[in-house]
Amino acid sequence: MRAALASTAALLLPVDCVCCQRPDSTLCPTCSKAMRTACLHPQRVEHRADALPVNQLGEALPVIAAGIYDHELAAVILAFKNHQMPALGKVLVPALARAVFTAVAELADPGRPVVLVPVPTRLRAKAKRGYFPLGVLLARMNRSRVLPERVLVEHLVRYRASGQFASAQKGRGKRARSVVRGTLDAPDTRGLARMLSLEAQVLFIDDVLTTGATLAEAQRALADSGLLVCGAVVLAATPAPDPKQGVRSARSK
Ligand SMILES: [Zn+2]
Repeated sequence: MRAALASTAALLLPVDCVCCQRPDSTLCPTCSKAMRTACLHPQRVEHRADALPVNQLGEALPVIAAGIYDHELAAVILAFKNHQMPALGKVLVPALARAVFTAVAELADPGRPVVLVPVPTRLRAKAKRGYFPLGVLLARMNRSRVLPERVLVEHLVRYRASGQFASAQKGRGKRARSVVRGTLDAPDTRGLARMLSLEAQVLFIDDVLTTGATLAEAQRALADSGLLVCGAVVLAATPAPDPKQGVRSARSK
């Protein structure tokens, strides 16, 4: 019955696999399996990004990724973000949930609640797409109750209305950080106070980790709140920067 309905839907709305372009499904069974396999083992990825915030010991903020941004996972994330295909959410939710579970177990103090704080989308990008892909995934995770019990979701960090919209992807290290500096803030003082009274630890959550500059800026936005940031979770991390191209700019503001 379900197969019959699916094939009828495919006739009405012809779709191709977002990975291999095979007809009849948004994600064919072969690519779906490959994507699930690629996300079976969430991994630490902070060594792949050189503009992450660092602690007093010079250690980068720990980041757990569901997978690496290539092959099927990259195709699915890109399609989900750009083509507004909420159908792909159902394959991304289990991958992200597994990464959240790993991050909570590895990075958070077990005695305290954890608050997932989404890294916001630039207003322009959001307006262009008409929706917030990460928000769609988080809402789905909340609805299907796949998050651990002590995990909350609060949209505490936002883009400033008058912020700079330069791409965080340009430049590396300090330069990448300086490009996004001052673009985010945390205006929800009641939300912050509530999380502080619960002694909640912050886990930032984002779709793709590139330089880590946006995460550094998100942490800066929460610096005065008193909240402890224990790490970040992402769907995917881009491959480590090529050391030959990774000449760090000496410029910083
Ligand atoms: Zn396929």
